[in-house]
Amino acid sequence: MPDAVHGESRMYIDGQLVDANSGKQFPNINPATEEIIGQVADGGREETERAIAAARRAFDETSWSHNHKFRKKCLEQLREGLTKEKELLRQQVIAEAGAPLQLTYGPQCDSVINDLGWVTSMLESYPWEQNLGTHNFFGLKSDRLVWKEAAGVVAAITPWNYPLQIELAKIGPALGAGCSVILKPAPDTPWCGTFLGRIAQEHTDIPPGVFNVITSSDPAEMGTLLAEDPRVDLISFTGSTTVGAQIMAKAAPGIKKVFLELGGKSANIILDDADFDRVIPSATMVCIHAGQGCAMQTRLLLPRSRYSEGVEKLIDAFENIKYGDPTDVQNSMGPLINATQQNRVLRYIEKGKQEGATLAFGGGIPKHLECGYFVEPTLFTDVDNSMTIAREEIFGPVLCVIPYEDDDDAVRIANDSIYGLSGAVNSASQERALAVAHRLRTGTIGVNGGMWFSPDAPFGGYKQSGVGREMGVQGFEEYLETKVVGIPTP
Ligand code: NAD
Repeated sequence: MPDAVHGESRMYIDGQLVDANSGKQFPNINPATEEIIGQVADGGREETERAIAAARRAFDETSWSHNHKFRKKCLEQLREGLTKEKELLRQQVIAEAGAPLQLTYGPQCDSVINDLGWVTSMLESYPWEQNLGTHNFFGLKSDRLVWKEAAGVVAAITPWNYPLQIELAKIGPALGAGCSVILKPAPDTPWCGTFLGRIAQEHTDIPPGVFNVITSSDPAEMGTLLAEDPRVDLISFTGSTTVGAQIMAKAAPGIKKVFLELGGKSANIILDDADFDRVIPSATMVCIHAGQGCAMQTRLLLPRSRYSEGVEKLIDAFENIKYGDPTDVQNSMGPLINATQQNRVLRYIEKGKQEGATLAFGGGIPKHLECGYFVEPTLFTDVDNSMTIAREEIFGPVLCVIPYEDDDDAVRIANDSIYGLSGAVNSASQERALAVAHRLRTGTIGVNGGMWFSPDAPFGGYKQSGVGREMGVQGFEEYLETKVVGIPTP
């Protein structure tokens, strides 16, 4: 029996670690064991109000937004603090998100802490001021200075699937830009958020009010208050397209800046000349972390001319997926986050069968696991792109195989989606794969196994997969405003 994992139960508001004023708490549940691992402050309107007031005051009344050097120092302290507490964070993300241990050596923990270093070094070279030169406007000669300034108070609303990665991908650039931040983590993974508050307090000189973390068992209340409050300048949201649209609508009356990272239904196109022995096994990556990733390639497009060969190899590959206890480093897939998600995934599987797809592998609750919100790695073949399982985001370990006729048909099917977050193209010819990649309406594409995910690469979606980009210089600039200043020149 592993030691109990400890997390921070308190919110972080105006520089203080605090319980909810009501004294209420809500349980944090391990999705692999279904056990309560601890409690978290169940905040509400009052705590949201205090966090907004603190963030507004810190932005308006301190030098935080102007003092680039101090901010860089604080971000370095944050990174050092995270590095010191890394093992505890690792245990927390495994326990509350069901993240497989092996992923915590990458994007569920270690690499995202390292990636903060990219933000701090980028701050050194970022052009906060540029001179566009002299312009003659009706005989009045002026130099035009372009100043980049912090956007203001940022509300960061995050999901549970890659909690730490998504939180740090927002907090790092937002604080680096000079904003003050209110982080509202998902109720299923509160500790990854509250612990950041504790690290900020214990390891950094970040002034009170600049960074706040508020938690609630109600998924919607705090998010709604943040989206509607005129003192919040920008909403940085990652989550489902449905909630993203609601946030956008709530923010609209105040013409608030909204930055959205939403869902996906990405296509992996295997062209007919591809090396199937190499590319087909990697299609099982869709099951990593039980498929709870927005950029997963959940539609596999196989050429009709090599369809049965591809399906055969896929079934072999699915048989080799290691899943179960997330603390076992062999497993790439743990549980779904909660019973609601487990049931949702199972309903989609039923729908797939009803609509005529062939269930070629999995499709149920694994019999060898006694507890936890698990669903077997699941493979559907003979999927038509019009079926529900090909159109809607399942957010579970389910791969849909869709046959296509030729390259044009593959591009048509891949683009026939409300989403456009990611994708992949595989071919023996890099040139041919790149030509197809050019035609896809999507924010990121892996060509022949190439990986695009990195701190300096902007990540985000076309169409209903989002508005704006996270990470990279472009992601940093989401948290900036642009001011142009004219000064007379002789
Ligand atoms: P979700 O949309 O249900 O919740 C996301 C956040 O919004 C949570 O903090 C939640 O408490 C809050 N929220 C929920 N309802 C709200 C409401 N009515 N008003 C205001 N806030 C509300 O998403 P989820 O289930 O936590 O996460 C899964 C989704 O996130 C998937 O659709 C996935 O594709 C998406 N996602 C996208 C990216 C990306 O970068 N594009 C990354 C990870 C996850």
